[in-house]
Amino acid sequence: NPFEYAPAPESRSVVDIAPSYGLFIDGEFAEAADGKVFKTVSPATEEVLSEIAQAGEADVDRAVQAARRAFGPWSALPGAERAKYLFRIARIIQERSRELAVLETLDNGKPIKETRDADLPLIAAHFFYYAGWADKLDHAGFGPNPKPLGVAGQVIPWNFPLLMLAWKIAPALATGNTVVLKPAETTPLSALFFADICRQAGLPKGVVNIIPGYGDAGAALVAHPDVDKVAFTGSTAVGKQIARTVAGSKKKLTLELGGKGANIVFDDAPIDQAVEGIVNGIFFNQGQVCCAGSRLLIQESVADEVLDALKTRLSTLRLGDPLDKNTDIGAINSAEQLARITELAEAGEAEGAERWTAPCELPADGYWFAPTLFTGVTQAHRIAREEVFGPVLSVLTFRTPAEAVAKANNTPYGLSAGIWTEKGSRILSVANSLRAGVVWANTFNKFDPTSPFGGYKESGFGREGGRHGLEAYLNV
Ligand code: NAD
Repeated sequence: NPFEYAPAPESRSVVDIAPSYGLFIDGEFAEAADGKVFKTVSPATEEVLSEIAQAGEADVDRAVQAARRAFGPWSALPGAERAKYLFRIARIIQERSRELAVLETLDNGKPIKETRDADLPLIAAHFFYYAGWADKLDHAGFGPNPKPLGVAGQVIPWNFPLLMLAWKIAPALATGNTVVLKPAETTPLSALFFADICRQAGLPKGVVNIIPGYGDAGAALVAHPDVDKVAFTGSTAVGKQIARTVAGSKKKLTLELGGKGANIVFDDAPIDQAVEGIVNGIFFNQGQVCCAGSRLLIQESVADEVLDALKTRLSTLRLGDPLDKNTDIGAINSAEQLARITELAEAGEAEGAERWTAPCELPADGYWFAPTLFTGVTQAHRIAREEVFGPVLSVLTFRTPAEAVAKANNTPYGLSAGIWTEKGSRILSVANSLRAGVVWANTFNKFDPTSPFGGYKESGFGREGGRHGLEAYLNV
């Protein structure tokens, strides 16, 4: 029993979740115009956490109008004044990080170890980083006096709810824009707590508006004629739809979409270190990561050794209660996502790949999927081509660096890749040949607010993070 020696789980009582929440518009929580609500559940237990007001078209319009009214005074503030608000928000996030980590884990299903040690520190770091830019925009290399765009309509997914919010809201506010953000329907809670943090920080009303709802609310926001900038993170299918809606309008657009990252292990790689990186690459956040290393490419001569070490390591992962500090693998975010993962894994078997599942018991309630490997995968298989967005790793082999690069690039996506080798010259040459927005060498899933992130090809366009992330919110 892997739980026998586990310390007490992080306590639910750290966070006070109200039975219902309104939309956050113009500094106030309010019901939806048509009174509609939806429930948000814990994917680990299927327990209803809260009832949330569901934004419709009228609410989108109200929120955009509030953001428009706030835009004039907000953009007229000296950068140093805007920075003060962002620094204050960053500090409050740090102060409330335990509460936010438990909340995010409850609503999303990801292990507390990850929300506490990865999500929350990065979220605060993003606000600190962009706070630092707010009074230095003249020196950002975009020429003197770059201007904010206006009202930003932002739509985000459920895999890193508060981190995706931070990536969108921090640069938008630093550059003097105002925001209407729609969180994903399965993870609205941390965005609503963030709304409360905005109030606590004294942020002027209307500068940030949070409107939970479904795809129809996202579509209405994207199409609203008074939105100047659309920033979307989510699936490539919805991203393409949004691009069509925005085409020909005044709106600026950035898209962060799906991925099918290759993690390439050369025969001179430090195997133990590579195995840790492979595990982190695909099983972090149950593989529900756009830049996951979901295709493992191993050089043929070390393939057996790497796979044996990998299976041994995967057999030690603990799956279960996401609030338990020892849990490595949490719940899948929703029944729909679990169905999608299950369908693709079944396709892998049906198409002739060999399936290996880590030995672990799945809890009776909630949505769970055990860490899974497929060997004997070819480029033609769906599990090699389509984004699974789950804890499923497709393993392929290669003989030469050129073959590795060709296989890694053989995808419509281009978000991330990893290289494992002792040779510095090989890191440089392979990285330069990979068509991916981020390439990690001898590590994986490392993030930093100073570093731009974004895709090639169908993984989207525009960059978030770093100085480049400012450009998406400025007329330069
Ligand atoms: P999704 O595209 O279905 O939903 C994302 C968001 O868009 C949600 O808030 C949803 O309500 C909203 N939405 C749905 N239909 C819409 C429409 N027609 N118009 C406007 N908004 C709409 O994606 P998902 O399944 O929730 O998230 C998983 C996907 O997100 C994966 O493909 C993943 O790769 C991608 N993702 C990408 C990044 C990145 O930075 N590139 C980060 C995280 C997730």
